[in-house]
Amino acid sequence: MTQPTDIEIARAATKHKIQAIGARLDIPEEALLPYGHDKAKVAQGFIDGLTDRPNGKLILVTAITPTPAGEGKTTTTVGLGDGLNRIGKRAAICIREASLGPCFGLKGGAAGGGHAQVIPMEDMNLHFTGDFHAITSAHNLLSAMIDNHIHWGNELQIDQRRVVWRRVMDMNDRALRDMVTSLGGAANGFPRQTGFDITVASEVMAILCLADDLADLQRRLGDIIVAYTREKEPIRARDLKADGAMTVLLRDAMQPNLVQTLENNPAFVHGGPFANIAHGCNSVISTRLALKLADYVVTEAGFGADLGAEKFMDIKCRKAGLEPDAVVLVATVRSLKMNGGVTKDDLSRENPGAVQQGCANLTRHLENLRGFGVPVVVAINRFTDDTDAELDVLRQAVEAEDTEVFMCNHWAEGSSGIEALSHRVASLADHRDTAFTLLYPDDMPLFEKIETVAKRIYRAEGVDADARIRGQLADWEAQGFGNLPVCMAKTQYSFSADPAARGAITGHRIPVREVRLSAGAGFVVVICGDIMTMPGLPRSPAAEGICLNGDNQVTGLF
Ligand code: ADP
Ligand code: MG
Repeated sequence: MTQPTDIEIARAATKHKIQAIGARLDIPEEALLPYGHDKAKVAQGFIDGLTDRPNGKLILVTAITPTPAGEGKTTTTVGLGDGLNRIGKRAAICIREASLGPCFGLKGGAAGGGHAQVIPMEDMNLHFTGDFHAITSAHNLLSAMIDNHIHWGNELQIDQRRVVWRRVMDMNDRALRDMVTSLGGAANGFPRQTGFDITVASEVMAILCLADDLADLQRRLGDIIVAYTREKEPIRARDLKADGAMTVLLRDAMQPNLVQTLENNPAFVHGGPFANIAHGCNSVISTRLALKLADYVVTEAGFGADLGAEKFMDIKCRKAGLEPDAVVLVATVRSLKMNGGVTKDDLSRENPGAVQQGCANLTRHLENLRGFGVPVVVAINRFTDDTDAELDVLRQAVEAEDTEVFMCNHWAEGSSGIEALSHRVASLADHRDTAFTLLYPDDMPLFEKIETVAKRIYRAEGVDADARIRGQLADWEAQGFGNLPVCMAKTQYSFSADPAARGAITGHRIPVREVRLSAGAGFVVVICGDIMTMPGLPRSPAAEGICLNGDNQVTGLF
């Protein structure tokens, strides 16, 4: 029998009405704003009334350095949420919304997989509740207002060579990376060189994900620096009077979305910055909401622990005053083999030797995570092809690190396949006795922060940045931005900036190509190596296999 696809499993699920899912967390019906029968936003007014309640425990799911297909962090986040519910805990999950880029590109959707998914998966992977469209519109409204301001006389004296605000679209489209706008004569404004980023790298996305409430959202939007004058004085969105209208466009998008898992447990899906080119975590507002409503909240940070988990700790937790009570590091035999030098096409062939080689990658992620002062366990996300010999190698490597390891079969079996991990994680989170520590203090100079991440997390020998970049960082420090954390933009496939350097590479240096100030989000983006803030599509994009079947149902999403 062939294994049904993710979308077939999702479609066959018995869905409960969203009001019934809300009731599981004592969310009254009137606090839910339904989008159809199976999705709802949670009303801001209800959220505002919860502040005095105690918080549940926060569990972070992260992973070792991934293969291009992903290692099953979302699948494990959903599975663990279902597993905790199965053992009688009041648990919710918090994940990010999906971007159309990976959905139609290479990686597929973001709803989990197999028997551990959130549903409706088609909606979640496509337009969902429209949040990404709202973010895109708010971002591009600001872009339009900048060029319009210059067109109508440029009262603020924006230096057209120093406009730093680009445009965004939620699509992988390399043709838009670098361009000249306003060609065609005086009526079309002043030509200048600019480009598009993907929406998940937008500062507006980061702001939505970090803001406390609508007032904080508007303040942060106003703080966005869009350009500089000839004298290098910053021009902000507030100076263009754009912050009010942007907030209006984002009002509904700021409310977290509630959906359900295949096992009808509550799932909050809100916000979606990528973890390679942005900070990689779902919204603070949804995590806080879930912590008020559930005893255990399972959340995911994107890509490997060098990217998503580091930024979860040093950006999200630092800014929002959150602390993880336990961390689950997801490992797969496939990714260990890839880190052990096996090429993508050979991953299904048994190779315990390569697994052994790849374990150096896992060990390094484990050490890094322990450095944050949180208890860590390893979850093996089991694939059908994994052999006993390979799994034994992996298990022994983790145990040699004095770390507990759990075989997890949630992809194939749902919550019954992840009970042991669920019990252990709950007790770890209940009894955390270690002190959470950030990687660097706020007052460390910006370049030193970059070096600290590079040396302590990526284990690089140093950072290469030319005088232009160092000068830029110094200018921002002089302007009062020196206390911000750094948001590293780096390939997800390596501890280095070279995607081909797998495993636990040493002796490398991190080349910084560009730095961007996100004064509204509150971090400095540090772009390393060749990473792109607008991805391209692969030779055969997933879009080629996506279509409607005879019943007008979507097929080909995975
Ligand atoms: P991540 O969140 O780490 O990027 P996902 O959870 O989105 O990864 O999973 C990526 C893909 O891998 C999905 O299509 C999912 O169905 C598939 N997948 C996850 N776990 C398994 C497994 N144990 N066996 C087979 N496929 C899996
Ligand atoms: Mg994921």
